[in-house]
This record gives sequence, C-alpha cells and structure tokens, in this order.
Amino acid sequence: MPIVRQLAQMGHPVLRRVAERIADPALPALRALVDDMLVTVADANGVGLAAPQVYEACRMIIIASRPNPRYPHAPEMEPTVMVNPELLRSSDEREHGWEGCLSIPGMRGLVSRYRKVGVRYQTREGVVREAEYEGFLARVFQHELDHLNGVLYVDRLESMLDLVTEKEYARQQQGGS
Ligand code: ZN
Repeated sequence: MPIVRQLAQMGHPVLRRVAERIADPALPALRALVDDMLVTVADANGVGLAAPQVYEACRMIIIASRPNPRYPHAPEMEPTVMVNPELLRSSDEREHGWEGCLSIPGMRGLVSRYRKVGVRYQTREGVVREAEYEGFLARVFQHELDHLNGVLYVDRLESMLDLVTEKEYARQQQGGS
C-alpha cells in the first residue's frame, strides 16, 4: 500500500543537493517511491512533487495539476511521472507567476519562468517521451526540475518584496488591499 511520505522542509540539506540520475526506472524500490509520491502530492494539495522533497535524492518528478484548495485555478491533468526529466527548449518569452512549495509552507513568491518549454523524460516503464508545456504547466515543470538541482523558488525571487505569506496572498487574490 502506498503511504503518504513526510515532506522535507526548507533548510534540510536534501533540498540543496543535485539529485542523482536514475539508471533503471523499473526497480521495485523506485516503483514504490512513485506510488508514495502520487498519494503524497494528492494528500498535500500539491500540483507537483520532486523526489528530494520526500528525502530521496534521485531525478524523478511528478506533475499533477488539478484545481485544489491551494491552486483553485490549476488546469486538470492526469498525474505525469517523469524520470530523469530534461529541459530541451524554452521560449524567449518569460512571465511572472505566483508559486508555492510544499517544502516552504505558508509562503508564496512571484517568480519569472519561461512561458513555454519542450521537455524530455522517461516514463516509469523507462520509455522516453517528449512533451511541450506552456503557462502554468511549464511553470510547474520548471519548479520541479529546479528541485532536482537543489534550487528553490525563493532563489529566483527578483526582490524580497515578491515574497508574501499564503494568508496575505489569499487576501490579495480576493481583491483585498
Ligand atoms: Zn517545490
């Protein structure tokens, strides 16, 4: 049975390491990790999760966008498991958007990302796939890929003024001032 894993929090060294490439996606231990990450991201109302966030320093991410209490306007998709994901191409165009992170609870930051990306990854069966994402999903991919390189969204803030608490973020989104 898959279990909900504990989430590593900012300050833990596992979030700052460069994660290791996965030689064989079909290993049973890795399959169990994927299953655990799928229930963990759903349990935490996440839209993505990277293995280092559950204390496993290997190159695997899940993109699992769907509307939830943390991201009411997130597009709905089937959760996608990506082993050894790579950024192949990116648009010249960038855009700013608000991000949160399960490893940095209670905060949101305004981060600039490529608007469109072309990516390559292996499925959990080891099949190589390519895909194109734009907007919110391109953002989630870039955020999760950063985790595999020990980078957190707070590293990409252009100003500390772009970092707000989740409570204040929610108040501003509701049109408060
Ligand atoms: Zn994160």
